[in-house]
Amino acid sequence: MITRVRHVTLACVLSAAVLTGCGTDREPSAARPAPSAPVPSRPPTLAPGPAALTPVFRNGPRTRGKVVALTFDADMTAGQGPRAAAGERFDNPELIATLRALEVPSTVFMTGRWAEEYPVQARSIGRDPLFEVANHSYSHYAFTEDCYGLPTVSADRMRSDVERAYAAFRKAGVRDPMPYFRFPGGCHDRKALKALAPAGVTAVQWDVVGGDAFATDADAVARQVLQGVRPGSVVVLHCTRSAAPATERAVRRVVPELRERGYRFVKVSELIGTADGRP
Ligand SMILES: [Zn+2]
Repeated sequence: MITRVRHVTLACVLSAAVLTGCGTDREPSAARPAPSAPVPSRPPTLAPGPAALTPVFRNGPRTRGKVVALTFDADMTAGQGPRAAAGERFDNPELIATLRALEVPSTVFMTGRWAEEYPVQARSIGRDPLFEVANHSYSHYAFTEDCYGLPTVSADRMRSDVERAYAAFRKAGVRDPMPYFRFPGGCHDRKALKALAPAGVTAVQWDVVGGDAFATDADAVARQVLQGVRPGSVVVLHCTRSAAPATERAVRRVVPELRERGYRFVKVSELIGTADGRP
């Protein structure tokens, strides 16, 4: 499992290194009906953990029906601007288009730096009711000392890093970003959970590693996802054409197969709402 975690984390690192994009400029399809229920004014969050630490969510209930959340990380660090300026593109508009075409509700964990680099895409994703934008830090620095070689954020700057990302989302035009935070590399400890407690976020991990990092075999990625998914699962994937070039093709295999098995795709917020005892 360590190997698999390292695998996905490497994707985070690499996608950061290559200015990962995750989106498309296309506005949400006008044909898609508006959500029937009004968006709740306050998204569901988990209650604080022991000692008021930031709560950590990994997966939804296993016994409340066949639901699964696909999540896509959009990484970028502060130092990669020059590569973006040089024209290097690592977004994945085909993936976002496929999610829209297949009408798969999804959660995008976006870095603030990415939203600054791709404000039009961030806005497009952030205003499409099919998606929800959650926080993946401002610059994809680690929140623990030893996290796959990522630079680290000091404890006294962790909260401001998260808030800086939210500020970037709002500046880009993302509407109502979710109070969910995914630690870069998934790395966290008690110190980090304590530092982020005032931010009021729920930390979101995962129970299924998609294995799309550096994968070129879409069938292998699809198999790994399909083997791992259980009711309530959170699947971590990426939307980086360069570092995860098979993801869109894997999604096209995974989505119909899971639907065939009776699964319904939901955003992380729905899983958390269920976990919190809400309907
Ligand atoms: Zn990441």
